[in-house]
Amino acid sequence: MNFIPCPSPNFDDRAGGQSPSMIILHYTGTITAEEARERFCNESPTDSVGRISPHYLIDGYGGIYKFVEEDKRAWHAGHASWEGVTDINSASIGIEIWNTGHEFDYEEFRPLQIESVIGLIKDIRTRWNISHHNILGHSDVAPGRKLDPGEKFPWTKLAQAGIGVMPDIHYSASFEIDDFYAALKEYGYTYTNDQDILLKEFRRHFLPHLLNHKCLTNEDIDAIGFLSQIKPKIGLPSPETQKIR
Ligand SMILES: [Zn+2]
Repeated sequence: MNFIPCPSPNFDDRAGGQSPSMIILHYTGTITAEEARERFCNESPTDSVGRISPHYLIDGYGGIYKFVEEDKRAWHAGHASWEGVTDINSASIGIEIWNTGHEFDYEEFRPLQIESVIGLIKDIRTRWNISHHNILGHSDVAPGRKLDPGEKFPWTKLAQAGIGVMPDIHYSASFEIDDFYAALKEYGYTYTNDQDILLKEFRRHFLPHLLNHKCLTNEDIDAIGFLSQIKPKIGLPSPETQKIR
């Protein structure tokens, strides 16, 4: 793949020398991609966010900028948790996608951007054992604190291209309603116990059409039922990766 080099000083070593096992997708939430690019290379920012960086940034035309080597820890996830892992930066590769985000007028992601996201993730997965279950949004690992990449991100398009996983709408689960939040936690949502936040952020990724729906529905229950059932399979290293390593 062709990357535009844009080395950032904002990185360090992955804790314990671990290999990346997750991919976290973000939106930049900036008016321009250039603004984000400059921010990711800024060694002494004056705002309260501090030094930040992803590994990659995808601009509005699908161009891919590379800031940090994949074996190093970039600083994109902040306070977060997934399956009890809290140092998400050490465990993940971070991809920022230029989009103005909820703070401005949150536009649709562009087809060229999504093409690049799919190509980049496929490329990354030839180098590292990253299960489809661990291809996530920032809002999945920091629900209630982060909204990105948001409900307009086309996770279904990624799933159709063989990236990540989405619920099968024809699946029907045999779950007790009391088990729903336990199932979410078991699936990976360990950042908070706030049920309203968990339901909303689960839907933002997996059932965006239900985002503003108030009550828990059968569709929510079927979705987590399906995802829980296939998790052991998608948790395995991908065959293409096994061949290469
Ligand atoms: Zn983010």
